[in-house]
Amino acid sequence: MRKTLKKNLVAIFISLLLCGNTSVFSAPVEDALPDIGTTAGATLSINQEMVMGDLYIRSIRAQAPLIYDPLLTQYINKLGQKLVNHADSVKTPFHFYLINNPNINAYAFFGGNVVLHSALFRYSRTESELASVIAHEISHVTQRHLARLMEDQQRKSPIAWAGALGSILLMMASPQAGMAALSGTLAGFQQGMISFTQSNEQEADRIGMRTLSRAGFDPHGMPAFMQILADQSRYSSKLPEILYTHPLPASRLADARNRANQYPTKTVTESQNFLFARVRILTMFSTERRPDIELLLNKYSQGTTKEQLAAAYGHAILFSKDKNYSEARKILTPLLDKQPDNIWFIDTMTDIDIEQKQYANAINRLQDALKTQKGNPILQINLANTYLEAKQYPQASQLLFRYTFNNPDDLIGWQLLMESAGKQGKRNEELAAYAETMALQGKFDMAIEYLSKASALVKLGSYDQKRYDARIDQLRQLQQSYSQYKK
Ligand SMILES: [Zn+2]
Repeated sequence: MRKTLKKNLVAIFISLLLCGNTSVFSAPVEDALPDIGTTAGATLSINQEMVMGDLYIRSIRAQAPLIYDPLLTQYINKLGQKLVNHADSVKTPFHFYLINNPNINAYAFFGGNVVLHSALFRYSRTESELASVIAHEISHVTQRHLARLMEDQQRKSPIAWAGALGSILLMMASPQAGMAALSGTLAGFQQGMISFTQSNEQEADRIGMRTLSRAGFDPHGMPAFMQILADQSRYSSKLPEILYTHPLPASRLADARNRANQYPTKTVTESQNFLFARVRILTMFSTERRPDIELLLNKYSQGTTKEQLAAAYGHAILFSKDKNYSEARKILTPLLDKQPDNIWFIDTMTDIDIEQKQYANAINRLQDALKTQKGNPILQINLANTYLEAKQYPQASQLLFRYTFNNPDDLIGWQLLMESAGKQGKRNEELAAYAETMALQGKFDMAIEYLSKASALVKLGSYDQKRYDARIDQLRQLQQSYSQYKK
């Protein structure tokens, strides 16, 4: 599935206007050390953190080029969750997001929201390397380093939470811009304030490596990825963004190496899904030059069985991008014959069927796959999208009502529902779904306005009207709880 959010939203917004809708291992000795971080963070309650985290992720949805790819979203969330399951002091659920950005960066925020830049996939050679970055970020959150950083800011300069939150967010999402903003708005702040301290970093590395190993990954992945960062900063004029907020002195790398050596040696089997995800990002969501992408695919073609499979998948995507569908099918058909339930293959084949208007093939394949993988959200959203493309709007809506009920935070689901309702001239449903996409981006005023319009369109006292009005009340309450953190 290849939906991109912004473009479609704009198109739909225009259509709304046109339609007149004005209206297990032995622990190294050092793990016995107390966790410094957990003793801090006394003034921010978990509830405050949750509210701020939620507000933050809504603004990310509105402002950053998030990759709304069901396969990649599922991959990073499964990987992240595997690590969270092996971390200590987890106080909130975690969610993982992927942003299309060529700079290496990752950051974790309150409410367990972890953001990964797509460039991490370009530079991680193994899943353990990628996981080491995520484990480090998770540890900053569980050790409450971020809470402490923010409390420090608030204490040293008596600004509102909104100001402290805003500058921290900016610092994480765009370290260089964040520094500029800080020096402009918060005079007297030293540069050291806006990055984690050396002891924070040591702790996040130590706890992160423990999590990494417990989750079955290779602890050596951590120093290996640090080495990549160190090489980057040595040979390139541009410092990897992640180093602005997580400084990397030589001692950090040496410590990570020594620590990894204390863990028992283990062989970690290569992850097929990591290879698929890496190839998918490179071929579909990166600005890498085509020869560089082909270089990696060709390397994989000569590698292990798993790498060869990933290479074939990547080549199929490239052929499909070039509209050479017959070559793409030539690769994918035997792969799907062998692995009819492989969700990566199914997704790409569905895209090809849609491009070639062979809707029935795609629908049959997805329905078959749903029989063995009941309720699979990737298959469901693909099927809904295919129904839409095939102009089978009632089927699309029926599936999407259920999908959005089960996955209320998935913007793509609401977007497709909006499209489907619009095509059928069901303005109230279109407006209500549009309102949800706005609410997910923190635009509560607009969401309430559109829901009010939807409510005015339906019969007085009807079930739909009660539903819209109840949702308006809910959104007003949310808006109020956020007001103290919002500028
Ligand atoms: Zn760090």
